[in-house]
Amino acid sequence: MKFVLLHHSSCPRGAFHYCIDPTGGIESLLSDSERGAHAQSIGIALSGDFNGARPTEAQLEALRGLLVGIKLRYPDIVIGGHRQVRGESTDCPGRRFPLAALREWSAEGLVEARDAAFASALERQYAPS
Ligand SMILES: [Zn+2]
Repeated sequence: MKFVLLHHSSCPRGAFHYCIDPTGGIESLLSDSERGAHAQSIGIALSGDFNGARPTEAQLEALRGLLVGIKLRYPDIVIGGHRQVRGESTDCPGRRFPLAALREWSAEGLVEARDAAFASALERQYAPS
């Protein structure tokens, strides 16, 4: 997998790997090896239409947690919004989706969060019981 593509649930291309509801609940719809709406991409849809509202904090928090896990499995994966796919005319994941902030976090905070998750998994594995 090369990309994570973010969508909102008003997206017409409805084949996503994960869906995140407004309370932060994550539903897994496809396995990583199954093809979603776009080749080489893991699709994550957040419930809502973000041309009107913004995603909830719980949704964004769940999304960041999900991205940490994906980054552990695919260290070189790049995160973007559906509308960045060349040749597709869509505003998905919505004009009010905080894509710039999320991309900034993915460039700076994501690797740190991934390393912390990895370190704590290692500690759990080798901790004396
Ligand atoms: Zn979309």
